[in-house]
Parts: sequence; structure tokens; C-alpha cells
Amino acid sequence: MMSTTAESVVDKRLEEKVALITGGASGIGESTARLFLKHGAKVLIADVQDELGQSLCKELGTPDIISYIHCDVTCETDVQNAVDLAVFRYGKLDIMFNNAGIVGEDELRANASEGDNFRKVLDVNVVGGFFGAKHAARVMVPAQKGCILFTASVASLLCIGVPHAYTTSKHAVVGLAKSLSVELGEYGIRVNCISPHAVATPMLLNWFVTSDKRKVEEIILRNGVLKGTILEAEDIAQAALFLASDEAKYVSGVNLPVDGAYSINNQTWKKGLMEDCI
Ligand code: NAD
Repeated sequence: MMSTTAESVVDKRLEEKVALITGGASGIGESTARLFLKHGAKVLIADVQDELGQSLCKELGTPDIISYIHCDVTCETDVQNAVDLAVFRYGKLDIMFNNAGIVGEDELRANASEGDNFRKVLDVNVVGGFFGAKHAARVMVPAQKGCILFTASVASLLCIGVPHAYTTSKHAVVGLAKSLSVELGEYGIRVNCISPHAVATPMLLNWFVTSDKRKVEEIILRNGVLKGTILEAEDIAQAALFLASDEAKYVSGVNLPVDGAYSINNQTWKKGLMEDCI
């Protein structure tokens, strides 16, 4: 039988760690906050949806283990304050999860606001993540350790018909993470990305313009490569848990797809061959 100590090591993979999660009030960020907390981390949620973030924290625990701060990631002072609050309230910052993101509009169908939309998506998804990494590094470098994560997307690996700004932003996030992983490796800081396939979170439901989660999940399932299972926000949280934990102590500079082989599949050649030869 396993000793209590061994059990707690296995059960609580983030014991004593402090995490800051942007976009933590909803979807993937919310699931990650729940899972990190379950694994013993202290969590600060940073988001712009104040009511949602505050009620989530109330549901999950007391401020000594989980709390909320209003933080628009496009505003550097907000991000700086969030990092400082994590350190002030919980004593340090071990995990910075730059997860906040938006899809934006289909630029070529949008009219006058095209340029604004493009800039806004890059501002939230890329510049916001950069601010997160910059301020996390400010406190992680002196500690000579830390873990910075980004939520990228399968759109960082291939074109899936989402807005151009989104695809651009997610490719950029991976470039940023790679660049950071090299510079910050010097200080024992690991930097990685997670690239999920479609997950029926509020962001995706809004983009599909439906609140019917089951319908969206059916479409995702039909279009996925891996059959018989639906990708859920918690599956992305599990990937974040691995990358944030000491089990991944030598994993850095990686863009981990959680996409059921979607990004390595390309049947166009085979289809063309069938049409031409059979
Ligand atoms: P979501 O809408 O449920 O969550 C995103 C959160 O980010 C929201 O709580 C929102 O308020 C917050 N946010 C938006 N702009 C912000 C800002 N300026 N400052 C702070 N917070 C802000 O969507 P989600 O699907 O959980 O998205 C999380 C991440 O996952 C995003 O980066 C998204 O691009 C990425 N992603 C999602 C999918 C998917 O299919 N859902 C797939 C791949 C990648």
C-alpha cells in the first residue's frame, strides 16, 4: 500500500505552487483553475469578466487559495498589477498561464473595421501574452525557476478557416514562446505552448453563433480525426497540468498539440489519387 506521502505527491502535482491564469473566468482557463486548485496550487484568476471570475472564486474556495483580479491583458499596467498581486498575496509566482484570447471577426467579410479587428486580435492574443511573459519573467528570473505557458491553437499549425488575424496571432504566440524558452532557459524558466483542437467553450459557441453546445460538439466530433471522444476544456487543463508540473521539468520550447492527430492529417493527396486513378 502506498504511503500517505507518496499518495499526496501523486494526488497533488502542484502542491506549494502559485499560478496566475489569464482568461481564467471561462472555458479552458476556468477548467485549468479548477484542476490546478485540485492539485494543490494557489490560483489567481485574471480576466475582464469580473462577475464571472468573482463568482467562480467564491465557488472554488477562500481568497487564501483562489482569488480574482480584473486584468485586461492588453493593458501592461493591469498585467503588472496581476503579477504583483500573485506575489504579494501568495508569496511568489511559479506558473504563468497566458491563456486569454479572442477569435475576432472574419476580416474579409467585415468591412470598415477590418484593420481594427486585426490589431485587436493581435493585441489580446500576442501582445497580451507578451506582457504576461515579461512580468512573469520579472519575478521568475530572480527565483531562477518558473513555468510560462501559452494557449496557442491548431491554428498555430495549419489553416482551419478561422479569421486571418487569429491564425496569425497563434503562429506568433508559438514564435514568442520559442524565443522566450531560449532566453529564459538561462534562468531555469520553462516556456511552452498548448495547441488545442476545437473545444465547445463560450468563445467557440459565439463564433459558431449558437448556444447549442451539443450541436457544436457533434460538428467537432464529425470533423475530428480521433473518433469516439470529444475534446473538452478539462483535457486542455490536463495538458497544462503536465507542463506546469515537475514531471515536465525538462520540457521547454514545445508546442504541444491536443488535437487527436488533426494537425498531422492531410487526405487531399489520397483523395486526388482516388479520383484520378479509380
Ligand atoms: P473563453 O471565451 O471561454 O475564454 C477566454 C477568456 O479570455 C474569457 O474569460 C475572456 O473574458 C478572457 N479574455 C478575453 N479578452 C481578454 C483580455 N483582453 N484580457 C483578459 N482576459 C480576456 O474561450 P476559450 O476557448 O477558453 O479560450 C481560451 C484560449 O484557448 C484562447 O487563447 C483561445 O484562443 C484558445 N483556444 C481555444 C480553442 C477553442 O476551440 N475553444 C481552440 C484552440 C485554442
